[in-house]
Amino acid sequence: MKHSDLNNSETPLAQELADNTHRLKRANAAKVSKPKNTRVFTVSNQKGGVGKTTTAVNLAAALATKGLSVLVIDLDPQGNASTALGVEHHSGVPGAYEVLINKLPMAQAIQRCSTIKNLYCLPASIDLAGAETELFTNFSDEERRFRLRTTLWEFLESLPEDRRPDYVFIDCPPSLGLLTINAFVAAREVLIPIQCEYYALEGLSQLLKTVEMIKQQLNPKLVVSTILLTMFDSRTRLATQVADEVRKHFAKEVLSAIIPRSVRVSEAPSYEQTIITYDKSSSGAIAYLEAAIELANKGA
Ligand code: ATP
Ligand code: MG
Repeated sequence: MKHSDLNNSETPLAQELADNTHRLKRANAAKVSKPKNTRVFTVSNQKGGVGKTTTAVNLAAALATKGLSVLVIDLDPQGNASTALGVEHHSGVPGAYEVLINKLPMAQAIQRCSTIKNLYCLPASIDLAGAETELFTNFSDEERRFRLRTTLWEFLESLPEDRRPDYVFIDCPPSLGLLTINAFVAAREVLIPIQCEYYALEGLSQLLKTVEMIKQQLNPKLVVSTILLTMFDSRTRLATQVADEVRKHFAKEVLSAIIPRSVRVSEAPSYEQTIITYDKSSSGAIAYLEAAIELANKGA
């Protein structure tokens, strides 16, 4: 195929390639503002497999490639975020468990992501699976919900202001248990990924109710600032209907960037990478880059 063939928009594929090239150029050229203070997001949805981890690691990677400093806290015993960021997380590697339960200072467990500068991860190993029970048995009612907040702020405050991460993303497990509650108490902003499929909105009202309860009782500043539509398949009418419905209810929160369903996105973790390094000109990478730019420039 000649290069000129790609530029004529006679076929849908050529049109898509031309669009992607244009979007990538624009995203690469876009500047992102550095927040005045560290922005702490919890990426939550008790529904499983909606793209929480994929969103946390790819937004983090996108912001890091834009020159910001980013920390991902893996709070899911599955350790999927740790895998995608290529950090060691087998049983016994110090991570979220040791920090929450044994009060290990966070700085001693944070690892550098091997493929992207300025990107760090507090890993999770399977050891974290026992953390909820231990939080219940070993800590007071007050302390057990504040463990992550306490340890995160001790870490942030131990750094000079200009060396603190610009963004922290906490990747939650698919439940509204004590780990997720710790994330809600530690964060200022909630980011909800919503999969553009049937049942997408199911459970959302329970999630919003939980956020409201945390706000009233434990963390008055918590706000659902961002909703991201994920796994969008433009070939189905259902995906468009779900996207429209979500936008109708959450006009202010939904990012205009939308993440397409793409095999490349799902392949990346098996190479211990995010889509941003695995295939930086793919439609998934471009969409996450656009979402990250929007999130950064939208502010808190
Ligand atoms: P869990 O609730 O188990 O923690 P999750 O909400 O973190 O799941 P992910 O692990 O991010 O969801 O995604 C679920 C699956 O869907 C994974 O196999 C992932 O690779 C795949 N996936 C996520 N986003 C996309 C996408 N845009 N296109 C294709 N596959 C995707
Ligand atoms: Mg996950």
